Amino acid sequence: MATSVIGYPRIGKLRELKFAIEGYFKGDKSQNELLDLAQSLRKTHWQDQKQSNIRYISSNDFSFYDAVLDTACLLNIIPKRYQQLGLAELDQYFAMARGYQGDKGDVHALAMKKWFNTNYHYLVPEIEEDTEIKLVGKKPFNEYLEAKQLGIDTKPVIIGPLTLLKLAKRPKGQTYQTYVAAVVKAYQDILHNFAQLGASLVQIDEPILVTDLTQQDIQCFENIYQTLLADKQVKVLLQTYFGDIRDCYQQVINLPFDAIGLDFVEGKLTLDLVKKQGFPQDKLLFAGVVNGKNIWRNNYAKTLALLEQIQSITQNIVINTSCSLLHVPYTLQNETKLTIAQKAYFTFAQEKLQELAELGELVTQKNPKQHANYQSNQTLFTREREGTNQTIRDKVAALTAQDFVRLPVFTEREALQKQALKLPLLPTTTIGSFPQTSDVRLNRAKFKKGEITLEQYTTFNQQKIADCITLQEKIGLDVLVHGEFERNDMVEYFGESLNGFVFTEKAWVQSYGTRCVKPPIIWGDISRSKPITVAYSQYAQSLTDKPVKGMLTGPVTILNWSFPREDISYKDSVFQIGLAIADEVLDLEKAGINIIQIDEAALKEKLPLRKADWHSEYLDWAIPAFRLVHRKVKPTTQIHTHMCYSEFDDIIKEIDDMDADVISFEASRSNLSLIDVLKANHFKTEVGPGVYDIHSPRVPSVDEIRQVIEKLLAKIDKSKLWINPDCGLKTRGESEVIASLTNLVKATQDVRLEL
Ligand code: GLN
Ligand code: ZN
Repeated sequence: MATSVIGYPRIGKLRELKFAIEGYFKGDKSQNELLDLAQSLRKTHWQDQKQSNIRYISSNDFSFYDAVLDTACLLNIIPKRYQQLGLAELDQYFAMARGYQGDKGDVHALAMKKWFNTNYHYLVPEIEEDTEIKLVGKKPFNEYLEAKQLGIDTKPVIIGPLTLLKLAKRPKGQTYQTYVAAVVKAYQDILHNFAQLGASLVQIDEPILVTDLTQQDIQCFENIYQTLLADKQVKVLLQTYFGDIRDCYQQVINLPFDAIGLDFVEGKLTLDLVKKQGFPQDKLLFAGVVNGKNIWRNNYAKTLALLEQIQSITQNIVINTSCSLLHVPYTLQNETKLTIAQKAYFTFAQEKLQELAELGELVTQKNPKQHANYQSNQTLFTREREGTNQTIRDKVAALTAQDFVRLPVFTEREALQKQALKLPLLPTTTIGSFPQTSDVRLNRAKFKKGEITLEQYTTFNQQKIADCITLQEKIGLDVLVHGEFERNDMVEYFGESLNGFVFTEKAWVQSYGTRCVKPPIIWGDISRSKPITVAYSQYAQSLTDKPVKGMLTGPVTILNWSFPREDISYKDSVFQIGLAIADEVLDLEKAGINIIQIDEAALKEKLPLRKADWHSEYLDWAIPAFRLVHRKVKPTTQIHTHMCYSEFDDIIKEIDDMDADVISFEASRSNLSLIDVLKANHFKTEVGPGVYDIHSPRVPSVDEIRQVIEKLLAKIDKSKLWINPDCGLKTRGESEVIASLTNLVKATQDVRLEL
């Protein structure tokens, strides 16, 4: 049976593309060197797939930064501010991706947003009043030809018109429908070009179809494709992923597509839709059965059973990934520290090719169960995997409603905390990390390599903490932090100290542009054997009379920034993590830490794409998981949390329901728009909306911050307001931080005088 891949990772086995692009930014690499490297990466990626006999290999899944940005450029959606720089094409492209500051001008980058329910971020195309949408680029055609010259007839991939239009920003007062005619014309031209080049199948990605659609959206979708497919000369695959297309399944199968790609992994209703509403015999079904987002080996017994069910509806099947393999690391080959036993359970992009090939073969066998590939696969799923911890499982199973309720209630605690902590009005604080200067990273690296002793390592960190405390006292902050110098990353740090996690060395996944993350793997049941953060927090507290905030990462963020298990539910997994962090909270409290911040930076990451699923599939356990962590503390212990995105207008009640005492969040870049939402919803939790943007090296003036505080005070009661930056300071330089925080404190003091 034929196999297909929706898209392949482009960053390279060892992040070659990242380093080449960054080298180009720094001027260490010429444009030609960069282009050559890109070409050789594409070649390797195509040949990898060819070797595994993948029948439908994608082209144009390569990108120097992001595929949505590529599509915007292809269609001439280039805001004037970038055109005016007068840069060469590639540099204009990078200016859109990351801003430009130089002799040609000073412009911000396009906005960046999370790509559906992944941790990948795309650049938001910006349509302006006089944008003339039309096909102007050549990238997809060039890459198709490039592969053809290597003897590989690829299926070119392009982001679909509806997805593009719905994700794009447009002039005020315009609906996306305004642009349909122009966009359809451009896509007609694209299809026409591919037909001319001899492409046998073009893949159009419309992930937007798995989200909640209105009647107008569906109508618009039909209009677009009726026109687009009317006189096409090339076959078209409509590819969907990240869920099922329940809102428009009937319309999709009625349109004259030649092939339809459906996601059977994340699409809860996909199989049902196919069974109940049928599948046209004249089309190919690209069945997404190999998970493109997670790293666990496919369970062949389950997948073959699924394929059998699909085959009872249609025989015209291609075995496909569930989404682009962009969301998993490249290869297991470079992992030297995972045991052979562990590796047997994982498949990264390259290994998934093998999996596709094996499944493609097994599905055609009369007796697949006799086959060696099947049997060796099944040994993994029929035996108990190491890493089970029955005690922790029993604890989770025994949780009752009371375990998620902190008493006394918020208002009572609030009063007690005010008495106990005696903080001034508008307390000032930071989000936790202080600059991770090169000496800090060097110290960690040396310790990891065994070049210094634990004692040397710790002494250095203590010195850093002491300096950090002195600095904060001097600046005049009210609630201090220890600075997080011992942490590489807010999830990895905790993962390393908890039982049940597994770490990779080179398993990078693109997050945006040249930035990659290396998520830990939740391998087994999670437990904590000893305190993790207590010693450093206690040390910091011993140096000052001011309160020092303990600093933890919350269970939902730990789950959301790891590769989750597939053999137990998210809910069970997050409660296990929650119980471990809860123990840490109590140990901090015992050690005399009276304020504890539990970061939930990534709370929104796994929020389902469809509103109907928000509660049942996510919020109903994510919010309780946080409550579980802090429910046993004393009334006078103040629990803080922090969130990175301020876009939680729709779930503001649930955020309040986390029942923290104080929440800080990113707000300065969104014009403080959240403040109205807080007010309208009678938000009870005390809040610290960030008063300046930490993503920029700019130092905000006293006046500027004072104005922000005054704006906040107009909407938020002074007894509930905290003053802090938007997020942690770890990526900033020391001098900016000192200047910014000094201004923050001064501005707060000025405002206090008027209260
Ligand atoms: N406490 C963390 C820090 O200050 C929070 C980071 C985050 O929100 N991403 O770095
Ligand atoms: Zn943050």
